[in-house]
Amino acid sequence: MSLEELYREVILDHYRNPRNRAPVPNPDAKAEGVNPLCGDEVTVELSFDDGRVGAVAVRGQGCSISQSSGSMMSEAIKGRTLAEVRDLIARFKALMDIEGSLELDPDRPGAVLGDLEALQGVKRYPVRIKCAALPWTTLEQALDS
Ligand code: ZN
Repeated sequence: MSLEELYREVILDHYRNPRNRAPVPNPDAKAEGVNPLCGDEVTVELSFDDGRVGAVAVRGQGCSISQSSGSMMSEAIKGRTLAEVRDLIARFKALMDIEGSLELDPDRPGAVLGDLEALQGVKRYPVRIKCAALPWTTLEQALDS
């Protein structure tokens, strides 16, 4: 199996079996995002427990890239401090070559991102980058609200 096929499998697995969809009761932060280019919708809900992300929900509808990115994000941020979540957002942007991102190890910018590395192939399709980024920009809105 090539790396590209492996990445496709990871993306489809998250799309078919999305993680952390159950609503968070009384969330500390919540935001809804849409990507009109593709029709993607994402809702992010978070609650903090002792300074860390306790419960997280990412729900929505849309293409496999937007929904799998949200599922992977929900796993990546669980249990993290706010500073660590901000760092992950920056790392994801770096992985996707989105403006305003961190300078990272150019060989493996996604090394700490786990499954999210699978999304780096999306960079070859600029219109899909907005799909992959939607859950992350929605998460930023939730944190800033
Ligand atoms: Zn999309």
